[in-house]
Amino acid sequence: MFLPTARNTKIMREAFLHFIWRTGRFDLRQLRSTTGQDIQIHQFGAPNEDGGPDFLAAQVSIDGLQWAGQVEMHLNSSEWYDHGHERDPAYDNVILHVVLREDRPVFRADGSRIPCLELRGRIPPGILRSYWRLMHNENWIPCQHQLHYVGEDVREGWLGFLVRERLNAKGEYFLGTVHRGRRDWEACFFRALARSMGGRVNGEAMEMLTQALPLRILQKHQHSLLQLEALLFGQSGLLPSADGEQEEYTILLKREYALLRTKYGLTPLPAAAWRFLRMRPNGFPTVRIAQLAALLHRTGQLFSKALAATDQRELMNMFDVKLSNYWRSHYRFGVATETKDRRLGDDMVRSILINAVAPALEAYGRARKEGKYRNRAVSLLRALPAEDNSVIRRWRALGWTAGNAADSQALLSLKKEYCSRSRCLECPVGQEVLGQTYRKDGDGPILSLNERAVLYRIAGVG
Ligand code: SF4
Repeated sequence: MFLPTARNTKIMREAFLHFIWRTGRFDLRQLRSTTGQDIQIHQFGAPNEDGGPDFLAAQVSIDGLQWAGQVEMHLNSSEWYDHGHERDPAYDNVILHVVLREDRPVFRADGSRIPCLELRGRIPPGILRSYWRLMHNENWIPCQHQLHYVGEDVREGWLGFLVRERLNAKGEYFLGTVHRGRRDWEACFFRALARSMGGRVNGEAMEMLTQALPLRILQKHQHSLLQLEALLFGQSGLLPSADGEQEEYTILLKREYALLRTKYGLTPLPAAAWRFLRMRPNGFPTVRIAQLAALLHRTGQLFSKALAATDQRELMNMFDVKLSNYWRSHYRFGVATETKDRRLGDDMVRSILINAVAPALEAYGRARKEGKYRNRAVSLLRALPAEDNSVIRRWRALGWTAGNAADSQALLSLKKEYCSRSRCLECPVGQEVLGQTYRKDGDGPILSLNERAVLYRIAGVG
């Protein structure tokens, strides 16, 4: 969640100034520096994503003389000295200092004064008001009453960008685990798969289980479903204790585990790592672990199989496995129920494809520099139905319906990474909202005196 600390608030205000400059949304008529020089802007320059001045390759004329170089922006000119730019050679080529207010003249190392352009009084009140309202409201998303400003083309382009951005981040994370895990793609995929199967409640415990029990050990016992179950249940810490009467299956499992535990020097997780409360029996960790064992029994090379799958149907089939007899009639140890297949279920398989397979394809494509895997990750998301959760339902209520899993992933990311962090100026929707008010309100004085006073106080001016 975005925390409105003093630093965040300042960054937000600077971001607003950057937006105003970058999009040229200020009064460009008869620009003058604070010392009265005539200023013409030919190029605003490109935002600098790295260290150094804020905009690169800007072009301006000052008193008829053409300059090309960098532009630095601040709320108050004195921040130049607060940030120590006078001692940093990276700032020697700044041709224009753009500020909300000049409270102190700024000089280069050679003693020459850097031309300064003040933006106060030049920013259309309509934009200021819209920006202020975006930044200061309690709505679920700040622009929810203005979403209708945004055309279908802007929405689609933005969601397309967001799903790529989310996949990039997930792929990057996956790649990090591959590098830390001695480039063992199978093991990393197995971990991501187990985490997805555990879901929100038991995902972490499932991941811990894969750390406590290396895949290479499981692969050695792929031929025996009983041994796979013995290893997984034994290491999970969920095998029943010795007290009381025990079923034959449990006795067998414990005997196998005792042998394998000694052989591999294993230490089990505490049973307390798992949650059963308020869960549907189909999602109990015991059922998920039994499904994981069944998946491994069918193939120990799940990642290779996912890579080789040619379409979404083949991937769905890959996760369609039957459980052992015991787990077809039990949700937990010692509690018999009616016999059922207890397959993974379409929703769970889709969740695995979205959260484990697509990021793995993205990571593999990046590592191999092969676009086809990255494109397959996006195509896979587009082929899957949209997720259904409270965030997606709220977007739908606002008129933004996710047509597929690529859209729902994009909308989850938009809410978490942008709306909740007040990154409206980086969002085309925010830019469109501000642009619409700019076109609608022009330069007219539509702020009340009170509103303007509050705005300038927030901005630290006058
Ligand atoms: S980030 Fe974009 S979609 Fe989210 S509230 Fe801001 S303008 Fe709206």
